[in-house]
Amino acid sequence: MTILQENTPLAPFTSFGIGGPARYFAQAGSADELRELLRYARQKGLDYGLLGGGTNLLVSDRGFDGLVIRVAFGEVRRVGDAIEAQAGADLTGVVHQAAAWGLSGVESLAGIPGMLGGAVRGNAGAYGGCIGEVCSSVRALNARTLDFADFPREECRFGYRDSRFKREPGLVVVAARLELAPGSAAEIRERVAATLARRAARNLQCERSVGSFFMNPLVQDPGLIGRFESDQKVRSRDGRVPAGWLIDQAGLRNLRVGAAMVSNLHANYLINTGEARAEEVLSLASLIKERVRAATGVQLQEEVSCLGFPGAAPPPVQGVPAQPAGDSPPASPTAIPRNSEKASPKEA
Ligand SMILES: Cc1cc2nc3c(=O)[nH]c(=O)nc-3n(C[C@H](O)[C@H](O)[C@H](O)COP(=O)(O)OP(=O)(O)OC[C@H]3O[C@@H](n4cnc5c(N)ncnc54)[C@H](O)[C@@H]3O)c2cc1C
Repeated sequence: MTILQENTPLAPFTSFGIGGPARYFAQAGSADELRELLRYARQKGLDYGLLGGGTNLLVSDRGFDGLVIRVAFGEVRRVGDAIEAQAGADLTGVVHQAAAWGLSGVESLAGIPGMLGGAVRGNAGAYGGCIGEVCSSVRALNARTLDFADFPREECRFGYRDSRFKREPGLVVVAARLELAPGSAAEIRERVAATLARRAARNLQCERSVGSFFMNPLVQDPGLIGRFESDQKVRSRDGRVPAGWLIDQAGLRNLRVGAAMVSNLHANYLINTGEARAEEVLSLASLIKERVRAATGVQLQEEVSCLGFPGAAPPPVQGVPAQPAGDSPPASPTAIPRNSEKASPKEA
């Protein structure tokens, strides 16, 4: 049985600490429960939204008029030199577990907050590494057909902060297999500790933010790339220039809209300094985009995901008409019975 709550505030489930309530909220304690919740959303004609660690999510002030499902299953196991982890596993926990097992390949991901499912969807990465590099397959649940399917790496379309699962929100990441290399546990632990120390030195983990708000854009202008390289004494990576550097070029550090502010420590971190509203964050983001475009000619694009804004939620489960008035979901908390019935092939 899965418990469905009503009118649940979402802000406490996000690192931004922003956002209104979910009309319905439930925690999926297993892949099967996740499937039953999606089936329930479909039966009731509800939109659904997914939540992992909430560390890359901006929730609307009005909340979400549908069912928010928190992915709360996170078993991690070793299979030879690989790790198979479920979507709700804490990413840094997986990194520590890999080190304890003497498995190398994810050290650079240490300290990235959030869960494995969110990391796979956004191909999270840091310090030159990303999860897509070690992910050999992903198990996903198709929210439309309610079938599980395995996607080998070549079908996952990993790119910079991108994957098939981001582009096709109807595919919910359930688990992933990380192909690692055996090594000295002590040395791997040292590398993990070095990554964590490097992150801690930037002092950013305690800000209420979603990490980098904008993606690092591909820059066409060789003059701008040259300016970045001589200013920062580092090479541009794959033609990308850090969004934070561009925001600095526009002189926007500490810029505020209400309680939302560009961090003084990192210009690509927008922070909630108190009781910031999502509207304030969005206004600040628009202002930044406009001014960066004016100063550098570059159009920034958000890395953060949005929930509860028009056009931002995953599409309603397809093929299901909205329920007629009067057939509203029951009051909460409600127990959803398990149902092992499969979706009809016609809907696949
Ligand atoms: C202080 C700080 C530092 C950060 N540093 C980095 C960094 O160095 N590198 C980096 O890449 N990111 C960084 N981030 C951003 C964030 O941690 C990552 O994007 C993380 O992978 C998001 O995972 P999550 O579980 O919190 O996802 P959530 O925020 O819960 O969700 C993000 C999106 O993924 C969807 N989603 C969640 N779970 C699933 C699933 N199982 N299947 C399909 N879709 C799903 C959600 O619906 C939402 O659209 C940072 C964030 C913070 C707050």
